[in-house]
Amino acid sequence: MGEGKSSSVAIGIDLGTTYSCVAVWRNDGVEIITNDQGNRITPSCVAFTDTQRMIGDAAKNQVAANPTNTVFDSKRLIGRKFSDPHVQNDMKLWPFQVTNVDDVPKIVVEHKGEIKSFAAEEISSMILAKMREIAEKFLGTQVTNAVITVPAYFNDSQRQATKDAGRIAGLNVMSILNEPSAAAIAYGLDTKDHFHGIRTVFVFDFGGGTLDLTLLTIDNSGNITVKIHGGDTHLGGQDFDAAMVEFFASEFQRKNRIDLRGNKRAICRLKVASERAKRILSSTTQASIELESLHQGIDFYTSITRAKFEEINKNLFERCMELVHKCFEDSDMAKSSVDEVVLVGGSTRIPKLEQRLKDFFDGKDLCKKCINADEAVAYGAAIHASKLSGDKNEKIQDLKLWEVTPLSLGLKEQGGLMKVIIPRNTMIPTKKQDLFTTQFHNQEIVQIHIYEGERKIASNNNLLGSFDLEIPPAPRGVPMINVCFEIDSNSILHVSAEERATGVMKKVSVVSNKGRLSREEVERMVKDAEKYKAEDEEHRQKIEARNALENLAYNMRNLIEDEPVASELSAQDKKKINKAIDYTLKWIDESDFATVDEFKKEEEGLLSVFGPIILKMIEDLDARGSESGRKSLKKHSFEVVVSVVTGLVSAVCSVIQVIQG
Ligand code: ADP
Ligand code: MG
Repeated sequence: MGEGKSSSVAIGIDLGTTYSCVAVWRNDGVEIITNDQGNRITPSCVAFTDTQRMIGDAAKNQVAANPTNTVFDSKRLIGRKFSDPHVQNDMKLWPFQVTNVDDVPKIVVEHKGEIKSFAAEEISSMILAKMREIAEKFLGTQVTNAVITVPAYFNDSQRQATKDAGRIAGLNVMSILNEPSAAAIAYGLDTKDHFHGIRTVFVFDFGGGTLDLTLLTIDNSGNITVKIHGGDTHLGGQDFDAAMVEFFASEFQRKNRIDLRGNKRAICRLKVASERAKRILSSTTQASIELESLHQGIDFYTSITRAKFEEINKNLFERCMELVHKCFEDSDMAKSSVDEVVLVGGSTRIPKLEQRLKDFFDGKDLCKKCINADEAVAYGAAIHASKLSGDKNEKIQDLKLWEVTPLSLGLKEQGGLMKVIIPRNTMIPTKKQDLFTTQFHNQEIVQIHIYEGERKIASNNNLLGSFDLEIPPAPRGVPMINVCFEIDSNSILHVSAEERATGVMKKVSVVSNKGRLSREEVERMVKDAEKYKAEDEEHRQKIEARNALENLAYNMRNLIEDEPVASELSAQDKKKINKAIDYTLKWIDESDFATVDEFKKEEEGLLSVFGPIILKMIEDLDARGSESGRKSLKKHSFEVVVSVVTGLVSAVCSVIQVIQG
């Protein structure tokens, strides 16, 4: 890690599928931190080129020119197996390559002329490292403590993998917080003082890749109690984009009798344009697409109306509303009991969706103004982070979050079925038990396989862990084995199994390792991350050295062509300097792969021609009592030369270098 003061400050990071956002609690309030481009959200995008690695806006901006090496959507991959049908489906739409390494999906790119493969955790860690850096610049101190948010629907592997991504980024992940709960904290903190009694809130979080639905209550004492989570980890703004791309690809085919679907660059450009059109359709009723030479030299000019957009995405709106319905069906709450509907995520800006939601809630106004849809999650995460790091602020300390389990937890029973012990949406902490017996005569070992998920067949769910319990032999069906599932307040599952008659007992805390990175892999990735960071820094220094040299050369040229210096210099000296400048500018053009040292050396060379001539000129001017030479130097940003010239003639070159650097 770099040097600098370490601090106890803790940040909140919304690691989104499409955009990420970082916030911090400071001076009794939350500050959303802007990135180096002045944006409050940063694209969750990493790009690799021949010369460098880019993260965030810079990566997103070059996607159409470099589609196969620009990686996004790592959140859709994280904690999933290669064979996962979702992964298989997504892969068809990604311009970058994903390969199968022991059922772990790896992203393959070309970086600095080499083929590199990355786990989703690594790509996510690069985004996290960027968010961390944004916060460090803003705060002026090193930051290690962070709360990272995930969709409520994420299973254990996805949560653990997100935690690993944080570790690879050099972060101490204080907690993994559910996104809707973070939004609720943001909402709760801002509205707590304005009402009495208990309010029921429905959080509708619709982002780029996920739809997260949450019903919760907030009371005056700061208790936020989650009642139920619903939604879909694979439904988001990208599905609208994909539907539009498909629509336009068909249109292109109809018009030109050529299929462009195999052209990655064309698909990528079409996707960027579709996404833009989609946003425009949220505020106006028509949007146009203009893509020159999209495929085989053929231009594609077209337009789309909001009505058409709504038609081609009818199924998606329908799915959203079905999930909303289901949420209320699963809870014992009536939709009329909802006091506030909070909209979170960029896709909630789609007018049709808003209308459908409003209709569902019988014309109720939706809360858009009270909370910023793009920032609410990071906002809440920052509050949670501050609370965890022991902030004494009363407003923060009062807030208490009562979560529920997002997925059912249970065992594989006879015939491979899933026997649920703790149903989903049970409030945490909780403890539940059930009795089991043996399947065979004189069975000596009972295998306990622990799963999470909603599928009827256990192996279709996520295996969290397993262990064996040894029991004394007995006829089939006689032993009574009590299995107890307990989730503590840190959401960690402890499972114990006990044979009643003999009291033989085994207890484990379930930490799922399936599909996860090994400790060695994480360690290696931490080292790699440091290496990449150093390379990025080297690249930054190189660009700076290059720019400094270029500025120096142009400043020199302006100086010697401007009066009074122009007329003071002899034609011969001017020629000498011009020749040196031309040489340097040409050298810069041809030196893409030069090192910082080489840039510095070139700078010294240029100054060794320029320095003595100019110094001599200034001495001559001073001898004649003229001020104009100095003024001119100042105008062309060589003022420090002037102040140094009189005293330290010989040191001038190095001083200029310091100034320029
Ligand atoms: P995530 O949390 O998944 O990173 P965000 O909440 O940042 O996602 O939302 C990003 C999604 O919102 C993208 O799919 C983007 O296209 C969509 N989006 C952003 N603004 C608009 C808008 N004005 N109209 C429609 N969709 C939008
Ligand atoms: Mg989000």
